Amino acid sequence: MNVVIAGGGIAGVTAAEAARAVDPKANITVFSLERDRLYFRPRLPEVVAGKVSQDKIFVHPETWYREKNIELRLGESLIEVCQDNHQLRGSLGSRQTYDRLLLATGAESFRPPLPGANLPGVFAVRRLTDAANLYYETSRAQAAVLVGSGLLGLEIGHALTLRGLKVHVLERSDRVLPRQTTPKSGAKLLGLLTKMGFEIHLGQQASRAFGQERFSGVILASGEEILSQILILATGVTPNLDLAKALGLKVERAIVVDEYLETSTQDIYAAGDCAQSPDGFTGLWTVSRLMGLTAGANLMAQDRGTRKVYRPQPPSSFLKVAGIDLIAAGDLDPDGRLTGVEAETETSYRKVVVNATGLLVGFTNLGSTNGNRELTEALGQKVLPPAILGELSQVDFDFAKIKSLPLSA
Ligand SMILES: Cc1cc2nc3c(=O)[nH]c(=O)nc-3n(C[C@H](O)[C@H](O)[C@H](O)COP(=O)(O)OP(=O)(O)OC[C@H]3O[C@@H](n4cnc5c(N)ncnc54)[C@H](O)[C@@H]3O)c2cc1C
Repeated sequence: MNVVIAGGGIAGVTAAEAARAVDPKANITVFSLERDRLYFRPRLPEVVAGKVSQDKIFVHPETWYREKNIELRLGESLIEVCQDNHQLRGSLGSRQTYDRLLLATGAESFRPPLPGANLPGVFAVRRLTDAANLYYETSRAQAAVLVGSGLLGLEIGHALTLRGLKVHVLERSDRVLPRQTTPKSGAKLLGLLTKMGFEIHLGQQASRAFGQERFSGVILASGEEILSQILILATGVTPNLDLAKALGLKVERAIVVDEYLETSTQDIYAAGDCAQSPDGFTGLWTVSRLMGLTAGANLMAQDRGTRKVYRPQPPSSFLKVAGIDLIAAGDLDPDGRLTGVEAETETSYRKVVVNATGLLVGFTNLGSTNGNRELTEALGQKVLPPAILGELSQVDFDFAKIKSLPLSA
C-alpha cells in the first residue's frame, strides 16, 4: 500500500503514525512545505516571548521519522495529483504513485487587504519562521499594534508585553475576544488585560499602515494615528485549499469530508485545519490531532466497512494570558434566549447555560478553573435540576454536586 500525506503538521504526522500502527509494511510519505519538522504551533507565542528556544518545540526528534519508517520530505510541497493514474508530483520534482491520499495542508494566516500591509515590520504569525523573525524584530521595538483580539492575537500580544513592548489592540467588535466571551465576561477580561498594560481600542479598525522603508504606524478608520514599529495581523486563518480545488474536491469554508474524513472523491481523505467535518470547521490543535488519528486508521482500511467514524469532541476554547484562565464551551447564549446563571467576583466571572429541559448546553469561566472539569464532562450530557441552578450563582459552588448527577437519558 502506498500512502501519501500532504502536510507535515499535527494532522498529517498523527495520521502517518496511526497508519503505521495499522500496517508496519506500507510505504508512507509525508510532503511538508515547511522546512521544519512538526513543532507545537500553539507554543509559537512562547518563542516570540523568548521563553523557549526554537529547537525545544519540536514534537518528535529527527530520528523518530526514521524509526517509524515514515519518509518525510521537508521543504517539498505536493503540487500535482493525477487521479487517472494515481501519480503525483512534488515541488522538488519527485514523482510517485499513491493508493490513498490524505490532504492535511492546514491553513495560513488571513491577511486583510490593508493598504501598507506589505511593509517590513508587518507580521502574521503562523510558522516557526514567522515567530523567529518577530522575536528578532521586537528586540529593537518599543510598541506594537495588534489587529484582532482573538485567542491567537492576545497570546502574541501577551508575548510582546513580556518583551517590554507597549501593545495596542484594535478590535472592531464592542468587546475583546468576541467569539469566546459574553458582554459581561468580555468586560471583565478587558479590565484584566488593561491592568496588564494592554491598550485596547474597541470598535476600531485599521484603515492604512504607513512608513517610509519600514512600517511606522497605522491610521484608524476614526482618523486616529498610532505610532509603532511593529504591526501584527491576527485576523483569523484561511485553509490551504489549492490542491483540493485543483483535484475538483467539494470545498466550502474548507474541504468537505464525511464522518470517515473522506472527501467527495474515494480514497482521498482530509484532516486538520484544511478540513470541514459534518460538525463544521474548528481550527484547533486537539481537533486536528484527533482527525489525524481517525484519518490515519481509515487510510489503511482494506475493507471500507471497517473504517472508523470521526467523533468530534464538544468545542471549547482555553486561553491563558498571564495567568488569566478562560474556558468557553458550547452555547454561551449572549442574546439571553436560554437560562443562564452567573457568578462574579472582582477578578472572575462564570456563566452556566441550560436549555428549556435543563440540559447543560454551554458555560464560560474566566479568571478561575474551578468547575471546568465537571462542567466539561456534563456539557450536553446532564440535566441540572432547579435546586442546583439556584446554587450555581454562589461563587464557591461545590461542583461535586454536578459530578454526582446522572447522565441524561
Ligand atoms: C500562534 C498560534 C497559536 C495557536 N494556539 C492554539 C492553541 O492554544 N490551542 C489550539 O487548539 N490551537 C492553537 N492553534 C491552532 C493550531 O496550531 C492548528 O489548529 C493546528 O496546527 C492545525 O494543524 P494542521 O496539521 O491541520 O495544519 P498546520 O499546522 O497548518 O500544518 C499543515 C502543514 O502543511 C503544509 N502544507 C500546505 N500545503 C501543502 C502542500 N501542498 N504540500 C505539503 N505541505 C503543505 C503547511 O505549510 C503546514 O506546514 C494555534 C495556531 C497558531 C498559529
